[in-house]
Amino acid sequence: MAGGRGQGMKARGFKAADKRSELKTLVVGTLEVNCYVLWDTQTRDAFVIDPGADGRKIKKIIEDNQLSVRHIVNTHGHFDHVGADGELKGITGAPINIHREDAEMLGEAHEHGVIFGVITPPQPAPDKLLDDGVVLKAGGLTLRVLHTPGHTAGGICLYEEAEGLLFTGDTLFAGSIGRTDLGGGSFPVIIASIKNKLLPLGGEVVVLPGHGPDSTIGIERKTNQFLG
Ligand SMILES: [Zn+2]
Ligand SMILES: [Zn+2]
Repeated sequence: MAGGRGQGMKARGFKAADKRSELKTLVVGTLEVNCYVLWDTQTRDAFVIDPGADGRKIKKIIEDNQLSVRHIVNTHGHFDHVGADGELKGITGAPINIHREDAEMLGEAHEHGVIFGVITPPQPAPDKLLDDGVVLKAGGLTLRVLHTPGHTAGGICLYEEAEGLLFTGDTLFAGSIGRTDLGGGSFPVIIASIKNKLLPLGGEVVVLPGHGPDSTIGIERKTNQFLG
């Protein structure tokens, strides 16, 4: 669940000459979650971040680009971010990763979805429980886990330092922050997470949120009204 920003279908990618990654964004499910597929253009090893729904569309990106998915990673346990975990694991054999403090939410995704009028299939248990500082690898790419509680207790951001990419889930959005009124949420905690863990990363770092358009750390430092 996000702060409420919505937008239509989109799929985008970028590839700069000095980068070794390619990124595709797929907006999935009725709550319009950004599912990200990030891969090493040389080895074609990939991460899938927040496969919230629409497993068949994610599968098509994997097949069209001949990717080997090494990790399925959930930024947090809300049903709209995890709803196609099991389907993707079935297709790719990749392990499901989530922070240990949100792990139980995978088992509750179905009933949480029903509350929001969304049918989410039951999800398998996670294969790997993450902690702050853990590094996940796919080819030459690495995602470092930054534990950023406040939207949920086990919310994380994922930082690809060499590529300058930061996947922020429902912690930080372009011009907004995640809601803090759900289970495990806390306004002072999410503000502290963003100020202590995210804003110190370089201003050029690209912010790739769980919903809505992307941004940069520099833009959010200057203009995000929650961070003044
Ligand atoms: Zn969300
Ligand atoms: Zn959420």
